[in-house]
Amino acid sequence: MKFNPTLESIQSYEAGKPIELVVREYGIEKESIVKLASNENPFGCSPKVKAAVVSMIDAMALYPDDSMTKLKNSLANKYAIAPNEVVIGAGSDQVIEFAIHAKAHHGAKVLMNSVTFAMYEIYAKHVGAQIIRTASREHNLEEFYALYCEHKPAIIFLCTPNNPTGDAIDADAMVAFIEKIDVDTLVIVDGAYMEYARFKDPSKAIDPKTLIKRFSNVLFLGTFSKAYGLGGMRVGYGIAQAPIIHALYKIRPPFNITTLSLEAASVALEDEDFVQGCIADNFEQMKRYEAFAQAKQITLIESYTNFVTLALPERHNSGVLAQALLEQGMIVRNLSSYGLNAIRVTVGTSIQNDRFFQLIDPLV
Ligand SMILES: *Cc1c(COP(=O)(O)O)cnc(C)c1O
Repeated sequence: MKFNPTLESIQSYEAGKPIELVVREYGIEKESIVKLASNENPFGCSPKVKAAVVSMIDAMALYPDDSMTKLKNSLANKYAIAPNEVVIGAGSDQVIEFAIHAKAHHGAKVLMNSVTFAMYEIYAKHVGAQIIRTASREHNLEEFYALYCEHKPAIIFLCTPNNPTGDAIDADAMVAFIEKIDVDTLVIVDGAYMEYARFKDPSKAIDPKTLIKRFSNVLFLGTFSKAYGLGGMRVGYGIAQAPIIHALYKIRPPFNITTLSLEAASVALEDEDFVQGCIADNFEQMKRYEAFAQAKQITLIESYTNFVTLALPERHNSGVLAQALLEQGMIVRNLSSYGLNAIRVTVGTSIQNDRFFQLIDPLV
């Protein structure tokens, strides 16, 4: 069968390996597998969320509240914006999809960092858009501006902090950059790890309200999958001025968020102390990775997230290393498909990190 020719250049997204797969393929007991591959919160979500979801269980038979009023109001309240400046997606992934479908078309250009979140390219290719990438591994706004002038892209993606490298863009520099961009170019600021960056360094903290008050062409993305510990519930959001949200709504399928997910996300926002505690622990534990990298002469890119990217010296191959760890029940992310001889490791609990160091130590 012939498919849409634009699919030919798309490689399916390679998700972090689930624990069940490692049980099946390597016969390792579930309890001794550690997954540090998808940047989930190792402490999960607030216990209040669990209680709320359980108490909602009887609502499963009915369609969800498609207005999503409760969650939109909670987000509007958190960011001091209006509910009509928010769109909810099944993960911020889905908001990326809405935005690309709403703005790009065949032959349009989409500008992004050389190494960045893989879904931007995949969704852009769905509509036959052309991908333009910078050359530097970390975001370089001068390069972005030069390519913007040359190509006049329909969409620019800025991922800060960036996945899979962990670096973050300076907030003032970002504002100065967006000021130079025409209002007809959509600038998507992906803040999937912004809670971590805000905690570590206020100069990297992007406030969605400030951004959208100033710019009519910016869409800020956030997610409940990382710091809020709800990756399995699939809830993310976009924040922009109402006309952008209105356009994204034309793409959104009805009932795209389940009742239980909407409830989980709303309640998660009521327990910020839990999230802040997890973030504090994350950066405490990250120091151990920094010390390890230094001792082993491995380059650790300074991280504003809940993961570290370890760039390996030439004598090591990231694919071989990730596989050796996998066979011992330790799931990390090999970044060779991004053109990097590096592995990305989610910072786990202290016990999970102990295990990581124990397993990797003889290998590097
Ligand atoms: C994890 C992630 C997302 C989206 O995750 P969802 O689970 O779909 O909300 C978006 N952007 C980046 C950079 C991410 O790392």
